[in-house]
Amino acid sequence: MNAPGAQPSRAGAPGAQANPAVEYLCADCAASNEIRAREPIRCRECGCRVMYKKRIKRSVQFEAR
Ligand SMILES: [Zn+2]
Repeated sequence: MNAPGAQPSRAGAPGAQANPAVEYLCADCAASNEIRAREPIRCRECGCRVMYKKRIKRSVQFEAR
């Protein structure tokens, strides 16, 4: 069951190139930053480390209709 040097079963697909960047909103200056999984979460504008993850839902916010 335990294979030496085996990665968790989460990485099942060999196509690891698709590393989508997640959009984060800075809690300080509200700037949108695209941060990938391996990148540190930090605002590029002000350097704030508190970021809010944007929720990708359909019609999540009240936009002008
Ligand atoms: Zn910021």
